Amino acid sequence: MDKGEISQKALEYGLVLSTTALEQIIDSKIDYKRLFKKAKDDGAWFVTHEYIEKTTTTDKPDICESEGSEHKKHKACDLESKLIIHDSSDVTGKSTCAGTIDDFIQYFNSRYKSLKSVIQEHVEYKDVSTIEQVKAGEQKTKQKIVAIVNEKRESTRGFKFLDVEDPTGGLTVLIADKNDHLKAEYERILPDEVIGIEGILTGELYIANNITQPDIPLNHTKRYASEEVYAAFLSDIHVGSYLFLEKEFMSFIEWLNGRGSRREVADRLKYIFIAGDLVDGIGIYPDQESELTIPDIERQYEFLAMLLEDIPKHIEIIACMGNHDASRNAEPQPRVSKDLAGKLYEIPNVHVCGNPVRFSAHGVEVLMYHGTSMDTIIGSLSSCSYKNPDTAMVELLKRRHLVPTYGSDSISPENKDYLFIEDVPDVFHCGHVHTNGYTQYRGVTVINSGTWQAKTAYQERLGHQPTPARVPIMNLQNHEVIMLDFSANNE
Ligand code: FE
Ligand code: ZN
Repeated sequence: MDKGEISQKALEYGLVLSTTALEQIIDSKIDYKRLFKKAKDDGAWFVTHEYIEKTTTTDKPDICESEGSEHKKHKACDLESKLIIHDSSDVTGKSTCAGTIDDFIQYFNSRYKSLKSVIQEHVEYKDVSTIEQVKAGEQKTKQKIVAIVNEKRESTRGFKFLDVEDPTGGLTVLIADKNDHLKAEYERILPDEVIGIEGILTGELYIANNITQPDIPLNHTKRYASEEVYAAFLSDIHVGSYLFLEKEFMSFIEWLNGRGSRREVADRLKYIFIAGDLVDGIGIYPDQESELTIPDIERQYEFLAMLLEDIPKHIEIIACMGNHDASRNAEPQPRVSKDLAGKLYEIPNVHVCGNPVRFSAHGVEVLMYHGTSMDTIIGSLSSCSYKNPDTAMVELLKRRHLVPTYGSDSISPENKDYLFIEDVPDVFHCGHVHTNGYTQYRGVTVINSGTWQAKTAYQERLGHQPTPARVPIMNLQNHEVIMLDFSANNE
């Protein structure tokens, strides 16, 4: 905890803090945002040591601060929250890019280096040659390189080529046509991705016989919570859209507060993860105006805050940005400013983050990314579909990168590649496609959390089938995932 930050927060709440109170907050690791909010509600302006003593003993959440007549004490009220947001994974406040050519060169170099190091974790790629070494070396000897794919092309006679490069030079790779496995691998390759290629140099051509992606190692060991505690996965709430399913969303909140079945799960629910598209935004697509019930971005966030305010305060809510949110388009996205979403920042148990973001909840490592790049993946790979978004998410894991192709997706070339999947997460959570998806891939739980927006005209035209108001919920102790249905037709 940082003294300056605490004092600043107190100022924002219009409070004066005594020196002993400040020390006590730090020493006892008091949830100061919650404390300040309470002080403001109580009409106190001077927060003293005595005030803290009084409120922290009487404010022990029997009440969870959402004491509707319905609300009963949850088991999770007594569970200590174990949330660590990995600040280094979030670009908010750290964007360095000016968008110059140099920024891009530097970005692609760092991206190449990172992914090369992952490929070199494969035993068979421990020793690799540079393209320069391959060209200067012996003909027809087996070699291995790690290269970035510039282009995939097919000759009129049906020969399949890859134009690749590394920092030492470029090379044309020919895919041996007798090798069916390799041909299948070739079909899966996307421009800009970094791959390992084993082959031999024949004249000017490098004839490939094996292609390797960075991928998730087979020996990834999952981390589990030490006690039974649950997390709910949400995304694409689209507040402000006339298709936002407010009634269904309210029934989810009521479930959290004590109504409905599966009480044993609600009772131990400690976290809610929201993977972006918190609001519908303004001017995201042509003629959006006519489809909004709240045509003002600040009001949209205010309305969202009003809804989230009703979630019991013992539940930690971690929310990132999506392409509909008020952030830049290029990824990684910093979080929405306090000017536009002030009310959201005032809720003590809401943590607003950039996109992507990584955090640890009860010891389980989560990578949360909105998922905009999935459009490109699904459009490029015949094995992936909007119906099963988890297939596209697995392709991102295999490439160890959240935005493997550059072009249709826009990347902001930061000093550090925030989109590189450096450490293997236990849970990979996306939204964006508005359809639920779930799979396990090499020890990573892959979850797409659907939406709270009914089918849009655009989705209707494309033949997409959204699955609104269905919430995947994970037991962090054993990674089991259940699906709870809050859609109206389920009542
Ligand atoms: Fe969305
Ligand atoms: Zn989206």
